[in-house]
Amino acid sequence: MANTISLRCRECSRDYPIEPLNVCEFCFGPLEVVYDYGAINASTSREKIASGPRSMWRYADFLPADYNPVTDINAGFTPLIRSRNLAEELGLKELYIKNDSVNPSYSFKDRVVSVASAKALEFGFDTIACASTGNLAGAVSAHAARSGMKAYVFIPSDLEAGKVLTAAIYGATIVSVDGSYDVVNRLCSELADKYRWAFVNINVRPFYADGSKTLGYEVAEQLGWKAPVHAVAPAASGAMFTKIWKGLNEFADAGLIDTPVNTHMHLAQAEGCSPIASAYLDDRFIIKPVKPDSVAKSLAIGNPADGYYALKTIESSGGSAVVVEENEVSEGVKLLARTEGIFTEGAGGVAISALKKLAQSGTIKPNDQTVVYITGNGLKTVELVQDVVHPLLIEPTVDAFEAAVDTKVS
Ligand SMILES: *Cc1c(COP(=O)(O)O)cnc(C)c1O
Ligand SMILES: [Zn+2]
Repeated sequence: MANTISLRCRECSRDYPIEPLNVCEFCFGPLEVVYDYGAINASTSREKIASGPRSMWRYADFLPADYNPVTDINAGFTPLIRSRNLAEELGLKELYIKNDSVNPSYSFKDRVVSVASAKALEFGFDTIACASTGNLAGAVSAHAARSGMKAYVFIPSDLEAGKVLTAAIYGATIVSVDGSYDVVNRLCSELADKYRWAFVNINVRPFYADGSKTLGYEVAEQLGWKAPVHAVAPAASGAMFTKIWKGLNEFADAGLIDTPVNTHMHLAQAEGCSPIASAYLDDRFIIKPVKPDSVAKSLAIGNPADGYYALKTIESSGGSAVVVEENEVSEGVKLLARTEGIFTEGAGGVAISALKKLAQSGTIKPNDQTVVYITGNGLKTVELVQDVVHPLLIEPTVDAFEAAVDTKVS
C-alpha cells in the first residue's frame, strides 16, 4: 500500500481524504499528498532502491500510488550522461545531462502520467483525460492504450503536428481547442466537474505532480547518492521544478543523501512565456499571468498553477531564474545536438540556453557539479529547427559527389 495519509491544502493546511480532489473547498488552495514519512524512512534503503525495477517505480515507497503493471509502460530511469563537448564549450568541468527525452512517449510527462494513471485505476475510473501543452497528450494516450482506459486529450489548436500525431497514434480522442493552454485548462476544469473522468492534471493533480519527484531521486542516485550543486530545469506550470527539489529533500530526510544545502535550483523559461522567471527577476512573489507567444510550446502556460511554489523553491535553494530569448530556444536545441548527439525539443533548448547564460554570468562556476534536465524529444517538433536541413543534391556519380563536397579523395 502507498505510504500516504491524506491530502492537505498547501495554504490553510486542512486535510482531505485520499480522493480525486485537487482544490481546497475553503480557500481554493491546491491540495498536496501527505506521506507517512515514518513508514517510508523505515522501509527504504539504498540497497532496496538499487535492486528495484529499472524504472521510476524503484522509488515506489515515495510515490502516492501502488505499482500497477497494467498501466506501466516503463517510465523513468533514463540516462544521466556526463557531458564532454558541451561542458568544454561552456567552460564547465562537471556537467551532466539528464536525458528524459528517451522516455516511452518521449518526454518526462510519462513520469507524472505513470502515477496518475495507476491512481486513476485505483479510484475506479475507466477514462483518463488531460489539458495538454503537447507532451502530456502523448503520455496520457499511451498509458490509456496500455491499460485499456479511454482517453480524451484537450490541446490548443496551434500545437506542432508531431505532438498531435504522437498522441493520436495511441488511439485517444484528440480535442483541438481554439485558444491557448490556459483556455483549454479552464474548459477541462468545467468538464472535470461534469464527467467522471480522471483529468490527470486537474482532479488527480496532487498524485500526478508527485511523479516528478522521481526526477530528483534518480539524479541523486545516478550521481552516487548525492544532490548536484546546480540543477537547471525548464518550467511551464512550475510543478516539475518544485517536485525535483521536493524529491531531493525527501531523500535527505530518509538518510539516502546529505541535506541539499549546497544545491541551487535554476528555472528556465522563454521570453514569449516567462511569467515565473519574470516574477523572480522583478523580485516579486506574485505571478502576473501572460498571454503565451513562444516557440517553446510545451512551456506555454501563461497562468502557471505552481508559479508561486516554484519561486519559493528558488528562494529556499538559493537558485535563480533565467529568461532566454525566443531565438535562443532553437539555438539551444542545435547546440545540444551538435555537441552531445542529443536531439531535444524547445523546452530542452530553453534549458540549454539558460545553462549557457548561467555559466557565462559566473552563477555556475567551472568546478560546480551541474545537472541540466532535458525533458522532451526533438522529433516531435521538427519545424523548430527545419533550417538545419540542406542536403547536398547530386547526380549518382563520384565526380558529382566530389565536386559537391569540394574535396578530392586520393
Ligand atoms: C510539461 C513540460 C515541462 C514542464 O512542466 P511543468 O511541470 O508544468 O512545469 C517541461 N518540459 C517539457 C518537455 C514538458 O512537456
Ligand atoms: Zn485551504
